[in-house]
Amino acid sequence: MPKECAFCPHEGKLSAEHVVSDWMKSLFPGKKLFTRRNRAGQIISQTIQEEIDWTAKVVCEKCNNTWMSNIESQHAKPAMTALMIGKKNVPIPQASAHSIALFAFKTAVVLDHTQRKREPFFSRRVRHAFRQHLDIPRTLHMWMAGFASRTSVHFHTGYYKGTLPPSNPLEMYICTCGIGHFVFQVVAQKQIGFTGFYPRTGFEKLAVPLWPRVWPQFVWPAANVLRTLKDFDAFSERWKDVFPSR
Ligand SMILES: [Zn+2]
Repeated sequence: MPKECAFCPHEGKLSAEHVVSDWMKSLFPGKKLFTRRNRAGQIISQTIQEEIDWTAKVVCEKCNNTWMSNIESQHAKPAMTALMIGKKNVPIPQASAHSIALFAFKTAVVLDHTQRKREPFFSRRVRHAFRQHLDIPRTLHMWMAGFASRTSVHFHTGYYKGTLPPSNPLEMYICTCGIGHFVFQVVAQKQIGFTGFYPRTGFEKLAVPLWPRVWPQFVWPAANVLRTLKDFDAFSERWKDVFPSR
């Protein structure tokens, strides 16, 4: 079966989309620690590389070179550069938060599609609406946090499935990415019925809401930041315990 582009009906040859784009690489010259984990949180690859050259073949050339490339140049680069290189006292107005959210959602969909053994988490309708109108689902939540450690790139994807009381099924996809001093986390859920759920505590002073809205007049960074890779891992897994234990 020919593979379909993650964002449009194109079937067949897919192009190599750089998960870490060239402009990001140029911010961090020299050797970088590059870690990728699977959905159970285990490290699948960890290397020290001069160049981060990880590409995902999940989108067509047209998408890659048009609207996706615009997200990089018109949204991600202007809104995220200062945060990635560790600048302080950076005001983040809603327009910048929206720009970062576009990049974060695009990355979450691309990383989800690299795991071809499972059905895509986001419906075709949602992915196509993103290409057509840059619509991000309102039900999604995103967070951002500072990271003290430098010259590192970390991706962590987690999938959780279970039942919330009284008997409401919930499926979650959590995508956490750290690039330089900037970390974002996309929290997507499919839920039947409504029961609120909350992450593990301990990150309140460092996790800043990014989507649907950033705090008014927020100035980067928050009072606390993630200090170590262990902190990053704990942050990535903070939604793991939303289901009551049996
Ligand atoms: Zn496409």
